[in-house]
Amino acid sequence: MGELDGQSALVTGGSRGIGRAVAVRLAAEGALVAVHYGGNDAAAAKTVARIAEAGGRAFTVRARFGESRAVQRLFDGLTTELADHGADGLDILVNNAGIHSASSIGQLTEEEFERLLAINVSTPVFVIQRALPLLRDGGRIVNIGSASTRIADPHQIGYTLTKAALAALGPSLANELGRRAITVNTVEPGVVLTDMTAHYAKVPEAVAGLESITALGRIGEPEDVADVVGFLAGPRGRWVTGQTIDVSGGTYLGPITPG
Ligand code: NAD
Repeated sequence: MGELDGQSALVTGGSRGIGRAVAVRLAAEGALVAVHYGGNDAAAAKTVARIAEAGGRAFTVRARFGESRAVQRLFDGLTTELADHGADGLDILVNNAGIHSASSIGQLTEEEFERLLAINVSTPVFVIQRALPLLRDGGRIVNIGSASTRIADPHQIGYTLTKAALAALGPSLANELGRRAITVNTVEPGVVLTDMTAHYAKVPEAVAGLESITALGRIGEPEDVADVVGFLAGPRGRWVTGQTIDVSGGTYLGPITPG
């Protein structure tokens, strides 16, 4: 018996990286998982295959965020597939899909910022709006933010602003949805090894620098984040809502004194 048996979950951007690890984690606890993806059919199919190999249940839903009517397409596909799988509602929504940009204030263009806002803020807002009628009482919303909102790094200012906006959604929504026992939380990862950080992870000095300012002394793996999302999504996370949870292994907590 998994703790999410009989539940269904939607993970946006579930085809790779943190989203894939979250999808695998929720399915391992028994949830039927909708693996949303933008365009890479093979990667999304791989997530579903990995879940199926472990005895879990999942399906893919395609929608390229930022394109016109993408959220509508996502929910058209989702409701059809949920019905085909014998499910009539949603219990868990994980807004994970996101894009990064490494621009300082002088480099950021209006187009770049609009795109960041569209994918990292507007899309999750309207995904939540569309999900609410489907979401059962006692449900969970987990938004994937970024620890960059805590660390004053000027080199990703547009990205950081969008993740701060996403985190601001949590408490207000939690207050509205709490009477239905729906929790809303933001998980803020530090640097995690995924396609988003692959360029960075190839530079040994960058990795060493990051490890030196991280209490737990290493870069994160997608599963480090997925386990926290799994906790918040499960029954043991029922009393946590409106919170922003740093999941960075203690990156940049303050000076580290050599032992
Ligand atoms: P990733 O690039 O591997 O994955 C991003 C996911 O978002 C992919 O599945 C991608 O398909 C999806 N996506 C992006 N643009 C999309 C679009 N237009 N339409 C549909 N789907 C789209 O990166 P990741 O590291 O797994 O990132 C997952 C989340 O974690 C993101 O929100 C990211 O900002 C956040 N995050 C990552 C790190 C990190 O160090 N990797 C740190 C903090 C926060």
